[in-house]
Amino acid sequence: MQFNELKLDSRIQQSIEKAGFIKPTEIQQRAIPVVLSGADLMASAQTGTGKTAAFVLPALDRILRRSKKPGNGPRVLVLTPTRELAMQVNQNIRQFSRFSKVSSGSIIGGMAYGPQLRLLRGRLDLLVATPGRLLDHMERGKVDFSRLEILVLDEADRMLDMGFIDAVKEIAEATPKSRQTLLFSATLEGQVLKVANQLLKKPESIALAASNRRHKSIQQHMHHADSKAHKQKLLEHHLESGQLFKSLVFTATKRGAEQVAKVLRGKNLKSAALHGDMSQNKRRQTVENLRKGRIDTLVATDVAARGLDIKDISHVINYDLPTVAEDYIHRIGRTGRASATGCAISLVGPADWKKLSQIEKLIGQKVKREVVDGLEPTSGEPRPASKPKRTAKPRRRFSKGAKQATTHKPGSWRQRQAGPKRSRSARVKKAA
Ligand code: AMP
Repeated sequence: MQFNELKLDSRIQQSIEKAGFIKPTEIQQRAIPVVLSGADLMASAQTGTGKTAAFVLPALDRILRRSKKPGNGPRVLVLTPTRELAMQVNQNIRQFSRFSKVSSGSIIGGMAYGPQLRLLRGRLDLLVATPGRLLDHMERGKVDFSRLEILVLDEADRMLDMGFIDAVKEIAEATPKSRQTLLFSATLEGQVLKVANQLLKKPESIALAASNRRHKSIQQHMHHADSKAHKQKLLEHHLESGQLFKSLVFTATKRGAEQVAKVLRGKNLKSAALHGDMSQNKRRQTVENLRKGRIDTLVATDVAARGLDIKDISHVINYDLPTVAEDYIHRIGRTGRASATGCAISLVGPADWKKLSQIEKLIGQKVKREVVDGLEPTSGEPRPASKPKRTAKPRRRFSKGAKQATTHKPGSWRQRQAGPKRSRSARVKKAA
């Protein structure tokens, strides 16, 4: 299939050519006609598959047809779990609207309120937002959804993981019932499916390849590490090998990211940390430094696991394995982007073995074990724990007949998340 068969507005077609895209990706081929038809859609698609353009292109097509409704409010709202992803989506919108007059902007945490209030006062076609900050503005009566035609929930599974479920529902409820709703998620199971059933009307469903068939272009292997010091040595071995071009190193904590980046800088390796405690400007600048090659190693927490689209990241190194197995797929998806090949190396320490087995179960394959000469582990791989035999009936947690107490949490999502005692700035920080 070619892009022109999708019958998008000629100005959008022109921007696609300018972007150098030759053929629509699978998700674009399948999702764009559904979105153009006006139907609701739920689709399972990873980042790296071209899913952003799969909703941005038809959404822009809609915007280029005039709205009959008066007002200035956004006609398309895209909700994303993280600020990085919001910025990425906004960048795509600008890229594909370069030949048309479309106004777009983002409302994300960690940024000043003034420009966001000005954005919301003016005429706005597309708005990309993280749920927490958008709710802040909604609660102050600053958002007009009367013109809203399309609501996109991007990386819905992640939004739910991050505790945004009530916020997403509250936002969806504030939009017109007549809206078209599009939900994109890595998986369409469990809680995500429940939310989809609540918010979408007779959706079309598109499921791309299962997780174990994704990332064919990425070589995955692991090293068994005895300790943190051993991990650090293995990391330095790879970074100093001269075989890595740009690397993204994932740590479990913000402090860990800072420490590892500092040690690497001490070894004259051009590296920086990226995590949620940094201001938005600093985060943007750091990502730009990697993109432009001013640094070649970024040590990050999972803020960078999604939405970071730098085409030439050659290696993803899991210094610590992620707590949620699904995040492994997102992390390694930062390499091997747009048909490039990539490599993912995991350093598996004593605390990581259980996580590794969950990851291997999810991806449906064993990660290749590798040993570096001179940096061999001193212990062997622990054997998987066998299931303990049941000796007695499990004890009841509640006495027969007693009902489990439920706690009613009154107030809005924002109040529930923040609690009454915390300052406004603390609440905003948490939501971002
Ligand atoms: P996404 O899954 O939206 O994060 O996109 C992943 C990468 O693929 C981005 O760098 C896009 O610019 C690129 N991309 C998206 N659609 C296409 C296409 N049809 N042809 C080539 N590259 C694409």
